Amino acid sequence: MIKALFPGSFDPFTKGHADIVNRALPLFDRIIIAFGTNSSKTRFIKLQYMVDCLEKMYEKEPKIEITTYSGLTVEFCKKNSIQFILRGLRNSTDFEYERTIAHLNQSMDKRIETVFLATTPENSSVTSTIVREIIRFGGDASNFVPSLINDFLKIRQNLNLQ
Ligand code: ADP
Repeated sequence: MIKALFPGSFDPFTKGHADIVNRALPLFDRIIIAFGTNSSKTRFIKLQYMVDCLEKMYEKEPKIEITTYSGLTVEFCKKNSIQFILRGLRNSTDFEYERTIAHLNQSMDKRIETVFLATTPENSSVTSTIVREIIRFGGDASNFVPSLINDFLKIRQNLNLQ
């Protein structure tokens, strides 16, 4: 079985992330969307809330699994027999950053390959940071996040949840 890990913060999950997942679906037997939990950044949207959103969003897609992990990405891949790491590229800044991480991962385990998909033009300026700013000021983020995520974010806003 060919498995890919799509690691990220997904704070929140955007149309850009969803686009990468959808376009990677024909390439792999399984895609594991994995929230890395050892980032020093404090989350804007609670981890479990975003995990629940994604589980709902992809409940009818048997190839997709949602999980969280801490520690090194390559160690998680090894433990779970995952051969590929999937990442998205928006611009040259992403490229430089992603290349460094990919080289680092490669130096730790040569068998795990990183696969990059370039963003589509319509998603090239979609970032979780922009979405967080919109939500923080009570704006409409529907152009930037999948509709189910937007619904969850609105519920969260109305309940004044973190
Ligand atoms: P991280 O904190 O690990 O960078 P993110 O949630 O910000 O996590 O991003 C996860 C992955 O999705 C990264 O590879 C990032 O480059 C990619 N990504 C984010 N936004 C987009 C987008 N609009 N189009 C394509 N890829 C994207």
